[in-house]
Amino acid sequence: MQTQDCPLCQDSGGELVWQSALYRVIVVDEAGYPGFCRVVLNQHVAEMTDLPPEQRTAIMNAVWAVEEGLRAELQPHKINLASLGNMVPHLHWHVIPRWQDDRHFPAPIWAAPAREPITRKPDLARLKAALASRLLMLETFTKE
Ligand SMILES: [Zn+2]
Repeated sequence: MQTQDCPLCQDSGGELVWQSALYRVIVVDEAGYPGFCRVVLNQHVAEMTDLPPEQRTAIMNAVWAVEEGLRAELQPHKINLASLGNMVPHLHWHVIPRWQDDRHFPAPIWAAPAREPITRKPDLARLKAALASRLLMLETFTKE
């Protein structure tokens, strides 16, 4: 895939929460899944093992920071982490808060729906601010 055909090279991919030199964090607008985030590498690279170890660590630390922020703000029953990239081979991690009554639980969100979506309306502005603050702390701590 050429980068001009890649949606994650063309566009942020969602509502921007945080951007560093290496990656960005976006909130995805997905019905029934408020707080669904992605950590997206800024460059067009397909696999974690294409990156040097310190960049792999930085990406995963961002994934953990987003997970912790989602748990603190939304108290989901479970967090799902996934890196697939079969459709868009541009490295990105899905960080998905899950509830036992959500549309697909206990199956992955890409499975056939098990029930109608439950309307959850967390304060997304507050969530984004909380996530950005954790990512800022992460960046501050890792820059010596
Ligand atoms: Zn790309």
